Order: sequence, then C-alpha cells, then structure tokens
Amino acid sequence: MTTTTTENRSFEADVSRLLHMMVHSVYSDRDVFLRELISNAADACEKLRYEAIARPELIGEDPRLAITIAADAEAGTLSIADNGIGMTRDEMIEALGTIARSGTRAFMDRVEAAQGKEGAQLIGQFGVGFYSAFMVAGQVEVVSRHAGSEEAWRWSSDGKGEFSVAPAALEEAPARGTRVTLSLLDDAKSYAERWTLERIVKAQSGHVPVPISLVEKPG
Ligand code: ADP
Ligand code: MG
Repeated sequence: MTTTTTENRSFEADVSRLLHMMVHSVYSDRDVFLRELISNAADACEKLRYEAIARPELIGEDPRLAITIAADAEAGTLSIADNGIGMTRDEMIEALGTIARSGTRAFMDRVEAAQGKEGAQLIGQFGVGFYSAFMVAGQVEVVSRHAGSEEAWRWSSDGKGEFSVAPAALEEAPARGTRVTLSLLDDAKSYAERWTLERIVKAQSGHVPVPISLVEKPG
C-alpha cells in the first residue's frame, strides 16, 4: 500500500538510545559526520554501478556518478547529495529508523565503556554512521528517489524519538539518488563554511572513488 500523507513513526528502541548517545556522549570529534554521510553517498553510487551491470537502464541518461555538498551559511544548512541507487519508501523506513543496525548494541557498549572519548572514531566501525548527522543537526531531512522509480520520498526527524515519511514532489527530489539536508545546530554553523568543509573532506574522504564537489552560498 502506498500512502499519500505524512506518516509518523517511532524509532526502534535501540535507535533512540543510539541517537541520544550521539548527541550527548560522542561529541569529541563531530567532524566525522561528514565522512559518514559521504561514505553513504559513495556506497549508494557503488551499489548503482553494480546493479546497473544487469540493468543498464538504471543508469540511463545520467552515467556520471557524483557527490555534491551544498552549504548555505545564511540558512544554516548543509546538504550531501548523490545520484546513486536511492531508497524506496520501505528502505528509508527500515534503514533510517526501524531496524537497528547489527552494530548498534556493540557500539553503545563500547561508547559507554570509553565514556565518550573514542566514540566518534567508533561510528564508522560499527555501521551507525547515518545517525552521526544528529551530532551537528537539530533537524535532518532525507529526500530520495530510487533508480528507475517514479516516486520520491521525504524522511524527516529531529532525532528525538520519531521520524516522518511522506511523498516528495519529483521537482523537489534528486532525479535519482539521495539528498541529506542538515539544519545545523547553533554551535555547528561552521560546517556551512567552505574552508571547514574542504579541510574535512581532504582529511577524511580523500580515498572516496566518486568525485565530490562543493557548492557554497555565502552568508
Ligand atoms: P552503513 O552505511 O554502515 O550501512 P549507516 O548508518 O551509515 O550504516 O547507513 C544506514 C543505511 O541507510 C545504509 O546501509 C543504507 O541502506 C541507507 N542509506 C544511508 N544513506 C544513503 C544514501 N545516500 N543512499 C542510499 N541509501 C542510504
Ligand atoms: Mg554508512
């Protein structure tokens, strides 16, 4: 069944705990959120490349896979977009909220044991990267259109227990793939500045096999 209205859902219990931990315990090195979102974007591009071997029509007229980081200092937002495989509605609900990643428990145990100190570096290791967005954002919006689909979906959350999923207009969605938009917290506004973003991308995402470009709207 496809709904046309906004649906509100609760995060799975472990995800809620994880989010709380991201915001309150893992603050030592917040820069890692960008590496995690870029890594998800690159994974989505790799997945599309792989699936297009059997189904070349998925790549269609847009064969140049790319990651675009867009910063708007005035609005205090940062978005990371890819033209990879994208997510269906069900994939969004599962991947971003209702199914705890297999590493969630192990991650939380380690962070508790380490009292937050090495938490940021553990994020990638335990496959809980997406939620690190909430270290720097009060609101996260994900708009995605799965390759070959005529539908787009918008996931949105403030990370406090619930998320919503609603249909997105195709004009507001990437033609293919996913755009993650962060409304930066007051103490994280520097993540909308070009030099900060360039420094982090250079330091942490140099190995990514998909070209990354940065567009900036200065404040
Ligand atoms: P991991 O990358 O280790 O699976 P994450 O927490 O980083 O864990 O991401 C969770 C899941 O969300 C991914 O496995 C994927 O299914 C989905 N996802 C996140 N970002 C994207 C994206 N840009 N494109 C497609 N799927 C995504
Ligand atoms: Mg990831």
